[in-house]
Amino acid sequence: KEKTLAIIKPDGLYDNCTDKIKNAIFDSGFRIVKEMLIQLDEESAMSFYAEHSSRSFFSSLVKYMTSGPVLIMVLEKENAVADWRALIGPTDASKAKITHPNSIRAICGLDLQKNCVHGSDSPQSAQREISFFFKEKSSG
Ligand code: ATP
Repeated sequence: KEKTLAIIKPDGLYDNCTDKIKNAIFDSGFRIVKEMLIQLDEESAMSFYAEHSSRSFFSSLVKYMTSGPVLIMVLEKENAVADWRALIGPTDASKAKITHPNSIRAICGLDLQKNCVHGSDSPQSAQREISFFFKEKSSG
């Protein structure tokens, strides 16, 4: 089965949305294969979001992602990457509240930056992001 990387971002944990998010994960048929609560340092946040390093919001994004602990999860199911992206909804949580009111970002997110969760955008990204956080060889 396919795996994807999910992150509950600092606002998702601050707002005590973790239970809601996990219920949505289980209700949608995902299995949580690995889970790790960590505090990202600046260097790892910059490295994780390296593709956005030239964007105007980069330093703000790094500050946000290091503002508190994050919950890193590997999720598994058929079509995990696309299904998790669909479940979390559009990047801008304030727009998601209108267009995708049942999505996780609509329910637990706030705006374009504070959108409470991350999801890998392709199977290739998922592999890279999973090995970024879980160094050991991933099997299955
Ligand atoms: P993610 O990669 O976290 O799943 P995404 O693929 O929907 O989100 P990206 O475009 O990859 O969105 O942006 C990564 C993250 O950077 C977003 O989730 C959001 O937190 C933040 N972000 C994106 N665009 C902006 C922006 N214009 N202003 C502020 N923050 C932004």
